[in-house]
Amino acid sequence: MKTGRTPAYIGIGANLGDAQDAVRRAIALLAALPGSRLAGQSSLFSTAPVDAGGDDYVNAVVRIDTELAPADLLQALHAIEQDFGRERPYRNAPRTLDLDILLYGEARIASASLTVPHPRLTERAFVLIPLLQLDPLISIPGQGPAHAFVPAVAGQSIRKI
Ligand code: ATP
Ligand code: CA
Ligand code: CA
Repeated sequence: MKTGRTPAYIGIGANLGDAQDAVRRAIALLAALPGSRLAGQSSLFSTAPVDAGGDDYVNAVVRIDTELAPADLLQALHAIEQDFGRERPYRNAPRTLDLDILLYGEARIASASLTVPHPRLTERAFVLIPLLQLDPLISIPGQGPAHAFVPAVAGQSIRKI
């Protein structure tokens, strides 16, 4: 049996309603997930929408060390999104709350409902910058050090709140 906890990095985004409050409350709920503890949280960042309209986003990344299996973690994230009234009217629509599994330990997962590492992690400043704030030396399984991807996202506006 597998024992111990796996470090999982969760990307958080919101751009509807009181987005800062939503991100803060989401972090508290992530910290309270069963078999999990909050092991780190980035600053909150304000970012312009990428490939989408709407208000600026509030983004953050947290690390939780968790006993939850990846599929159970995804289900728990969906439940939290539902609590916040998340709707999916169309792709990249404005959202009350979005929770993505960015990394789950060293795992590489490609199932119908879950791809880890998150496939768009390396092309998004709003994910890369908070992730690197948490762990500047972090590597992306199969892709090498995360910081190597920063120059490619340098054109995307992001500022610490
Ligand atoms: P993007 O994936 O580009 O960030 P999004 O977050 O807006 O887009 P959603 O509508 O929130 O997309 O999610 C669509 C589906 O993506 C989810 O139902 C989930 O099954 C799937 N998915 C695949 N990999 C992941 C992951 N690593 N984290 C969260 N959801 C994932
Ligand atoms: Ca997302
Ligand atoms: Ca998502």
